[in-house]
Amino acid sequence: MTGVRVRFAPSPTGPLHMGGVRTALFNYLFAKKNNGSFILRIEDTDQNRYVKGAEEYILKSLQWCGIIPDEGQGYGGDYAPYRQSERKEIYQKYIQQLIDDDKAYYAFDTPEELEKLRAQSEAKGETFTYNYRNRRQLKSSLNLSKEEVQKLLNAEVPHVIRFKVPAGRELKLMDLIRGKVTFDTSTLDDKVLMKNDGLPTYHLANIVDDHTMKISHVIRGEEWLPSLPLHYLMYEAFGWDAPQFAHLPLILKPEGKGKLSKRDGDKHGFPVFPLEWKTEEGVINGYRETGYLPEAFINMLAFLGWNPGTEQEIFSLEELTKAFTLDKVSKSGARFNPDKAVWFNHQYIQKTDNQTLTEDFQEILKEKGIDTNDDFDFQVVSLLKERANFIIDLWEQGSFFYQTPTSYDAKGLKKVWKSDTLEILNKFRTKEIIPFEAERIQAEIKNFVNENEIGFGKIMMPLRMALVGSLQGPDIPILMDMLGKEEVLKRINSFISFGENQ
Ligand code: GLU
Repeated sequence: MTGVRVRFAPSPTGPLHMGGVRTALFNYLFAKKNNGSFILRIEDTDQNRYVKGAEEYILKSLQWCGIIPDEGQGYGGDYAPYRQSERKEIYQKYIQQLIDDDKAYYAFDTPEELEKLRAQSEAKGETFTYNYRNRRQLKSSLNLSKEEVQKLLNAEVPHVIRFKVPAGRELKLMDLIRGKVTFDTSTLDDKVLMKNDGLPTYHLANIVDDHTMKISHVIRGEEWLPSLPLHYLMYEAFGWDAPQFAHLPLILKPEGKGKLSKRDGDKHGFPVFPLEWKTEEGVINGYRETGYLPEAFINMLAFLGWNPGTEQEIFSLEELTKAFTLDKVSKSGARFNPDKAVWFNHQYIQKTDNQTLTEDFQEILKEKGIDTNDDFDFQVVSLLKERANFIIDLWEQGSFFYQTPTSYDAKGLKKVWKSDTLEILNKFRTKEIIPFEAERIQAEIKNFVNENEIGFGKIMMPLRMALVGSLQGPDIPILMDMLGKEEVLKRINSFISFGENQ
């Protein structure tokens, strides 16, 4: 396929939702797979919904994910500007073309008048549709003379420009994911294309930009499927070839029904945004701050609505690019499984080399005010990596490597503390272990057990309690070796005094 140009066209109305990132990802993959271009366009014509910082957030999020546009806002290109608010003149020119060709018309109805009509329809149990049935009775350029229209325009009477939807046509349109979709144009609204403020609505700006930016495929969320017939009719009205369309399935709540929302994230404790988002009420953590690696996040997202048709689940961005095709995107909604997201991160932590993990882990240590030691920290990482889902788990499961326990797990204590524990520990701490190294320690524990005719658990469990504070942690001789004689004795002594005071 040649000449593939796709776009991600978010509106800067708040932080980019993970569903938006998935749309960007699928566009990116499709472009790369087909040697095409991936374009970032900012659709900011709705001034009321504009949120400061949102555009910057979108750019940063894509960067973090490695979904880098070939062209677009922040990247430049031959079709600039890529921010719709900077393209006003372009839309003016094209809306005039539609008016001149009798494909669009001025409507002077006031919000109050429209509200009244809406209420009347509702009273009859109908929904009000502004279309061929009533457009002749309403205050529009279709019913007024040219002069009357001009007079109203000169007097700056508030108005909008609406699309004149042709009635009574059955549109059989092609969606690359859904196949044939049929629409009856008589059910459509004469949508507003240009608002009173002279700014285009989404529909006009979107079509004009997709055409002028030579977009070959529109890949977007399922929520835009109802707009497809209108968009198709607009291409027709302009006399342009329409791009091909693909509507991606919704991302559903973990429960399976309904679209995934921020509230689901709050409820289940998982992020829905890629990066943190600061509001006046506080900071909402994103995937990045929760400890997800961008590669894991992307891999997880790719599987929301797509699968390669094989058993393979771990894909780098490059591998995804090779494997991705739209025919493997499903029609039905993709249920989001937060556990699966964690699983993906676990896989990527395991794939990351220990040196890199150590460096990331040391960032956490520094934040905790703990001195780093390359060899020691590397060893900690090597010991704990296997069980870590996130880098922070290395700290949560291994803080005892750095801090003397200040309390002891109550459940563990019950299991461990027996009438002879004090005596056993007192005896053990006076034992000479030279050199104080794992292998020697292992041998001396064995000797100690034999000499005293006790079971292994009698010394191992109290030692573990003393050193870790709970019955968790790595192999005891290795831990003792890492902590060093002095620290080990300090911890045993603290545990003894704790036991004595019980
Ligand atoms: N600006 C629209 C959005 O925010 C873009 C829809 C489209 O891709 O056509 O979702």
